[in-house]
Amino acid sequence: MSKQTLSFQAEVAQLLHLVTHSLYSNQEIFLRELISNASDACDKLRFEGLNNSALFEDAPNLEVRVAFDKAAKTLTITDNGIGMSEQEAIDHLGTIAKSGTKDFMGKLSGDQKQDAQLIGQFGVGFYSGFIVADKITVESRRAGLPAEEGVRWTSGGTGDFEVEAINRPARGTSIILHLRDDAEEYLNAWKLKQVIAKYSDHISLPILMEKEEWKDGELINSDDENGGRQPGGMVKTGEWETINKASALWSRPKKDVTEEQYADFYKAISHDQEAPLTWAHNRVEGNTEYTQLLYIPAKAPFDLWNRDKKAGVKLYVKRVFIMDDAEALMPTYLRFVKGVIDSADLPLNVSRELLQESRDVRAIREGSTKRVLSMLEDLAKHDKHEAAAAATADDAVTDVVDADDKAKEGKYSQFYAEFGAVLKEGLGEDFGNRERLAKLLRFASTTSDTATVGFADYKARMKEGQEAIYYITADNLAAAKNSPQLEVFKKKGIEVLLMTDRVDEWALNYLHEFDGTPLQSVAKGAVDLGTLQDEGEKKAAEEAAEAFKPVLAKLKEALKDKAEDVRVTTRLVDSPACLVVQDDGMSTQLARMLKQAGQQAPETKPVLEVNAEHALVKKLDGSVHFHDLAHILFDQALLAEGGLPEDPAAYVKRVNALLV
Ligand code: ADP
Repeated sequence: MSKQTLSFQAEVAQLLHLVTHSLYSNQEIFLRELISNASDACDKLRFEGLNNSALFEDAPNLEVRVAFDKAAKTLTITDNGIGMSEQEAIDHLGTIAKSGTKDFMGKLSGDQKQDAQLIGQFGVGFYSGFIVADKITVESRRAGLPAEEGVRWTSGGTGDFEVEAINRPARGTSIILHLRDDAEEYLNAWKLKQVIAKYSDHISLPILMEKEEWKDGELINSDDENGGRQPGGMVKTGEWETINKASALWSRPKKDVTEEQYADFYKAISHDQEAPLTWAHNRVEGNTEYTQLLYIPAKAPFDLWNRDKKAGVKLYVKRVFIMDDAEALMPTYLRFVKGVIDSADLPLNVSRELLQESRDVRAIREGSTKRVLSMLEDLAKHDKHEAAAAATADDAVTDVVDADDKAKEGKYSQFYAEFGAVLKEGLGEDFGNRERLAKLLRFASTTSDTATVGFADYKARMKEGQEAIYYITADNLAAAKNSPQLEVFKKKGIEVLLMTDRVDEWALNYLHEFDGTPLQSVAKGAVDLGTLQDEGEKKAAEEAAEAFKPVLAKLKEALKDKAEDVRVTTRLVDSPACLVVQDDGMSTQLARMLKQAGQQAPETKPVLEVNAEHALVKKLDGSVHFHDLAHILFDQALLAEGGLPEDPAAYVKRVNALLV
């Protein structure tokens, strides 16, 4: 068989360039990534071996070996896992299968620090080897294939790679890193052990290194870095020893796991370089028994908005890895949660289809969802130093570990800034937890520019006689704050929640009240401030409306193609007019958003509300420019809420004619 030279997929070449240029400040992560791949490969073998024990050949003990050769300047990581066929090596090591790769590449700015952070979240995996190596050789044979069907893959990490068939009796994969001059520190057992302890202690597989001993060493000064021994240095003994704890982190008792180890484990499973915001580690007992170790990240991943994105929770059954991204374990709106669930009840050969139907899985999913909500409630509680009742768990839980209280301060706002909008999807997705979710939502309001106002805070501040929670949706905070619809609320000092996330409008369709108080959009229906409006005002408004009736009839006629109705309103103070939708109508923003996204939106005409007290509106009566003024009034109301006149040129012409 001859060698073939193949090109990397364009994105791989780009990623490789970035890896070598941005990640050198955090060199050592390459070892974590390669050991993690080795461990995954063993997990896959164990899984496939459930139905085909022949795959284990004569080596049933799965393990990873780390070896270095000072003279050749190579570091080799070998696993006896599933291995790769030639085609798999070409496919897996030459392309990136992750969805969203292109988008991800587009986000990179060229600023090394920022990019390094993003790459960390993306997970560079195998390619991280090129941080320390200027050439990588991979030798592999897939479990079950004959020795002659081994493969050697070689690349210098630039445009292309070579593959050739080799004879490889041993099942599994060796990754041989030809180290750069500036990475020679990894040719040292002490350094390797230190990095492995930091990143890979939780790996449930034994990681082995060859024992070394002193050759002709003479103790000179035991304080220096070589332990004081000089001449012959360390030599290999041919004996291998396990250098990690080799027990799954989540199965250890909490007292044996430090905060740092929890954080390191998170980094290893999430590829995130930052520590998590919080986590919960519980053993749940009852009808369904399982262990959950769930983390909330500090930063949103680059592909958070991809609802098809893989979920972040790994499923294990009695410590045997079953699958990544088991979407049945977490609802979609909690897709940012990372972690591990280890079930004691599920069968080892459980399939994705089976997962969807299993009652145990449903119980785990419900329990885990509640656990995440409890974690968030807990953060929210500490964020505000409220003495609110602690979240109660619904399962009988023992062995709970949480990040400590003091450290939780300020974290809810941080969480909310990153993931708040995703959480809102839950209102439409998880009816059972709707009330708990509603309590976790935060918005900006007419009294707060930052998204810190919860419905409960709002309710506590409601005016005497106020019967609804008022809100407005808009494209952005400035547009929301300056909405003409807010004028009367501002005048009366009534707080209005300002909702500017794209999902708000949709999510609010599923929430009609909070704790018995209805939610009311100030841009829908007629304003009825109820007892908040005094009798005098009501009377004045009615009289103004009566006097305005003839003009109103003419306005309706002039705008009959654009407006469903025209009516006099009391909601305006400074503006001449605004648009509102009927009570059951879709807001103009949402309709606009749907159209922009190329979707169908119902063609509903808005209602034009006019302020009969406004000079411009008063001018209408008897004006020779009545028709033009009427259209300008309508188009301006549209502009004020971020829309565009149907015929912008006609609008400009009309305004200019009046200006001249
Ligand atoms: P990821 O692990 O996130 O999928 P990587 O770039 O690290 O991405 O690896 C790409 C693919 O290469 C893996 O999904 C796997 O199929 C294959 N691979 C990498 N390392 C090994 C290994 N040690 N044994 C078997 N397959 C491997």
